[in-house]
Amino acid sequence: MKKYLFFLFAVFTISCGNKNENQNIQPENPYLGLDTSYIHLRVGLPKDSDSSDDYIIKRNQYCISYNYKRNEPNWVSYELNSDWYGDVARYKGNFISDTSLPSPWYRVKHSDYTNSGFDRGHLVRSEERTKTEDDNKSTFLLSNIIPQAPDLNQGPWLKLEYYCEDLCKKENKELFVICGGIYSSNTTIGPGINVPDSCFKIVIVLEKGQGLQNITSITPIIAVKMPNIQGIRAVAWETYNSTIDDIEASTGYDFINYVPKGVQQIIEAQKGA
Ligand code: MN
Ligand code: MN
Repeated sequence: MKKYLFFLFAVFTISCGNKNENQNIQPENPYLGLDTSYIHLRVGLPKDSDSSDDYIIKRNQYCISYNYKRNEPNWVSYELNSDWYGDVARYKGNFISDTSLPSPWYRVKHSDYTNSGFDRGHLVRSEERTKTEDDNKSTFLLSNIIPQAPDLNQGPWLKLEYYCEDLCKKENKELFVICGGIYSSNTTIGPGINVPDSCFKIVIVLEKGQGLQNITSITPIIAVKMPNIQGIRAVAWETYNSTIDDIEASTGYDFINYVPKGVQQIIEAQKGA
């Protein structure tokens, strides 16, 4: 009995120790309270082998996995259709530090990008959230931003954003988009914002109003991996067609993981677009 009590005490002490240690880094379980009813995670909650640097931020406009080690998002996941586009003017202020981040973490400032040689690259594009001023402003939070070479941001990345806009407005599609950076070097700007070597975007293309249950092995997908470099401004976005399999291998994340395994296997191997 004595031994048993001591064991309990030891376990209790150890778990308290861990709790305190983690408190500064991960204030809450990032995967709590998430389910398929949340529109921006309708097709999956991307997961990799280490959730300690995936701090999930749920917003009405999009869902982010924030990485405090890189001072930027791992990925952003969001629904896109014609309803999100409106006529609100582009937010005019500086990009906004995300004060919702746990207080021990560095909060990236607008000026951290100034003269870095990199654009403040939106993951959710400003124009994709133009129904209300709040929607548009939310895209200017620096937790939605990664350093993108101007020729990428204003070249093929933008052209794919135009293409998605056309799919929504002209073809009445329902898109589920997941995008982010791929990191293999340790290049940083400002106080330690990692510069991705390339940027990926995955788009599941459905008819407006459709959802997870409508995804089949013949659902069209777009999967691109674009180098984060200068000199590609005039390049067509389709040049960077890839597969979800390849993006999963490069990032370590399992994407669209709510899609039945058999269907995932087929569409993830499909060359995008
Ligand atoms: Mn952009
Ligand atoms: Mn997957």
